Amino acid sequence: MSEAATVQQAGIRQAGTPAVKANLLGLTRPQMEAFFLQLGEKKFRAQQVMKWIHHAGVTRFEDMTNLSRALRERLPEVAEIRPPEVVSQQDSGDGTRKWAVRVEGGGLVETVLIPAGDRATLCVSSQVGCSLDCSFCSTGKQGFQRDLTAAEIIGQVWLAIDSYDAFQSGKGRIVTNVVMMGMGEPLLNFDNVVSAMDLMLDDLAYGLSKRRVTLSTSGVVPALDRLAGVSEVSLAVSLHAPNDALRDQLVPINRKYPIAELLRSCRDYMAAQSDRNRVVTVEYTLIAGVNDQPEHARELAVLLRDLPCKINLIPFNTFPQSEYERPSGRAVSRFWQVLVDAGYIVTVRTTRGDDIDAACGQLVGQVVDRTRRSERYRAGGDTQAIEVM
Ligand code: SAH
Ligand code: SF4
Repeated sequence: MSEAATVQQAGIRQAGTPAVKANLLGLTRPQMEAFFLQLGEKKFRAQQVMKWIHHAGVTRFEDMTNLSRALRERLPEVAEIRPPEVVSQQDSGDGTRKWAVRVEGGGLVETVLIPAGDRATLCVSSQVGCSLDCSFCSTGKQGFQRDLTAAEIIGQVWLAIDSYDAFQSGKGRIVTNVVMMGMGEPLLNFDNVVSAMDLMLDDLAYGLSKRRVTLSTSGVVPALDRLAGVSEVSLAVSLHAPNDALRDQLVPINRKYPIAELLRSCRDYMAAQSDRNRVVTVEYTLIAGVNDQPEHARELAVLLRDLPCKINLIPFNTFPQSEYERPSGRAVSRFWQVLVDAGYIVTVRTTRGDDIDAACGQLVGQVVDRTRRSERYRAGGDTQAIEVM
């Protein structure tokens, strides 16, 4: 892609064109370099500014002391560094912290940080709402509002660190892992999600290892095929059923991209990785009487035979409009046992941050929708699931 095209794609205005200021928070390294070249500056300015934004948490150009005074004065005319607006922040007794974030246009999304031992996993949203309408998911019931920009996605990482006052504080890393498991289907917001994940991995930004950034998808197969060529993040797939007839009911996108195609795409994704020891995390939400029977577990064990994977069982979280129920502990352990006996590594998601309803989307549910249909996001506050990624 030409630099001009990159710059345009990044939303940077051309000289003399009155347009929205570029939000430098969401620019990847190549985009930032293109931005400075276009201003007639040297490329290395990109490195300096990225470090100010993502390492030092600085949002005012006047504070960027290693830039020339002329550049510091010029930048505010053409650009800004604007993190998303935090509407509320809540802390759980178990250390989980949740933010409700208002994005431009008025939508709300949530971000949750779940500390566990020496790690802390940030659950990040990619869209306001979701168009895919999985039958057990409250976000799907809200419908789709819009894609988040790259700045709004990476801004969730920025604000988490900022809220602990931990930019260059010597406190150690506040965010050690990121999971794209908040609101939305990340692969339907491909470019912005890939840009934000690039920043998560870039040493000039957050420098996380590719194993510690996980994208969760319900199975948008063509986009997953594309992802294999441009990203090396860890992959989680929301399967939830061992056959197409059942998955068609739970995850409607299965009617377009059935299980066999999805698993083929997952295998290709893993095959494209330089490190062959990595595995896909298969997410399976257990719904009482629907997909939680031992025969489902046996069918799943056969289905996943050829996929390098581990399985994460998520007991369904109820929400008011849902006709589904959470399975009993016994049903969960029965299901778990069948898979363990078949030789799989299986974890069960446990709830964290219960006292603040700490799960992505829950407050959004309270604010936007008094029926609290986003309550399912209790699942977002899970330790074990996140530990295995
Ligand atoms: N759209 C992506 C990522 C966001 S959903 C995806 O579907 O993978 C993140 C996880 O939460 C998914 O595995 C999803 O199946 C699960 N989930 C959604 N609703 C749930 C509920 N009511 N109870 C438990 N888990 C749920
Ligand atoms: Fe969208 Fe994921 Fe919810 Fe399905 S489970 S509706 S893909 S957010």
